[in-house]
Amino acid sequence: KPSDPSLKILHKTILLGDSGVGKTSLLVKFDTGKFQTGNFSATVGIGFTNKIISVDDSKVKLQIWDTAGQERFRSVTHAYYRDAHALLLLYDVTNKISFDNIRAWLSEIRDYANEQVVIMLIGNKADCNPSDRMVKREDGERLAKEYSVTFMETSAKSGLNVEIAFMAVARELLFKK
Ligand code: GDP
Ligand code: MG
Repeated sequence: KPSDPSLKILHKTILLGDSGVGKTSLLVKFDTGKFQTGNFSATVGIGFTNKIISVDDSKVKLQIWDTAGQERFRSVTHAYYRDAHALLLLYDVTNKISFDNIRAWLSEIRDYANEQVVIMLIGNKADCNPSDRMVKREDGERLAKEYSVTFMETSAKSGLNVEIAFMAVARELLFKK
């Protein structure tokens, strides 16, 4: 089988967003199919997972980075995402503050990330009880539109849109020029 040239590029993809929104859970779900309750240890250093995603006849290699609690102190270093190809920016639909903080995250990204970076806004925990929901789907959609980024609601718990979100990112990376 001829080697796939698109595979040679490793697309650095980073999960961003406030602490507790479900970044680690989303990556673990995508990687292993499992959902684990309770906060993941923040003691391990920044780690990454390599995944190969099929998009039509091509394969896209993502190196997906997760922060280990640095986001809690807003100390995710700028050098860390300066060379990122894609950013998954998460908020928690049951946590209004995490949604309000998205603007600050986006302004950081504007200042420090590559201009060409692919950004996907994600409202996670969409499985929540309707009475716990503090951010409407339309609010997420509107914000994404304002910043011209892709939007999706996900659930690391049920698996809703988890693969679809990473596939959409891979597709955008493959077809952007
Ligand atoms: P991080 O700090 O952004 O990495 O967030 P974690 O992945 O550590 O998740 C924080 C908490 O939210 C944990 O208790 C998770 O079990 C929970 N959680 C994460 N994703 C979901 C989800 O999609 N639905 C629900 N109901 N809980 C979630
Ligand atoms: Mg985490």
